[in-house]
Amino acid sequence: MSHKPVIGITPSPTALERPHGVFNTYGIADTYTTAVEAAGGVPVILPPQDGNAAQLAGLVDGLLISGGGDIDPIHYGEQERHPTTGGIHAGRDQLEFGLLREAIDRGIPTLCICRGIQVLNVVLGGTLYQDVADLYSAELEHRQYKTGIERHDPSHSVTATEGSLLARAYGATELQVNSFHHQGLKDLGDGLAPIGWSPDGLVEAVELTGHPWLLGVQWHPEMMYAAHSEHLGPFQALVEAIVGAPAVAG
Ligand code: MN
Repeated sequence: MSHKPVIGITPSPTALERPHGVFNTYGIADTYTTAVEAAGGVPVILPPQDGNAAQLAGLVDGLLISGGGDIDPIHYGEQERHPTTGGIHAGRDQLEFGLLREAIDRGIPTLCICRGIQVLNVVLGGTLYQDVADLYSAELEHRQYKTGIERHDPSHSVTATEGSLLARAYGATELQVNSFHHQGLKDLGDGLAPIGWSPDGLVEAVELTGHPWLLGVQWHPEMMYAAHSEHLGPFQALVEAIVGAPAVAG
């Protein structure tokens, strides 16, 4: 490949207060773009828009579906919203569903982070726990902001399946990860293989069987890689899935 791989990143809707008013904006933490850069990719941000997912998917070599607010539970068959379900943005849901359908159909290498793994699951017909502590288990605290542990530091372990995309990305089967989610994967979507679990048995990583490279993780490696370098692994593996693994000397 003559150019560095272009990685399309989906942003979060947010509001910016300025002296001349409040502006609705789309933004992402800079750690997403710096992680992609550090792995050898060119980050570009893909804002919500109507009906352009197929064309956008054709502009990029890889995709990163980022973290953020909750998916409208109507998309996995639940009319009622749990009191903690929030941050829903219909345009973001639609764009990310569209991009992931393209990624699945065209075999575009894709990394799905936090909300991203949940979108991936729902696109493939899976369901979510609208609130893990209330509807699954409160044994393990998955909302790290409640424990005072810094966002770049781990708060629980994940056990990865040997030989999976996850184990290969980290070069290990026992990982230490951060945790900033109140929702979680319930029934898995079609073709998704569970490849990583937290100690309470929640599925925290999946890959799509038969796809060249599609990995979902429930934690935030982009927040961790600067302090814990193994967390650059998923970004490097995404880039390598596009350009090919580096040649081994000798
Ligand atoms: Mn967790």
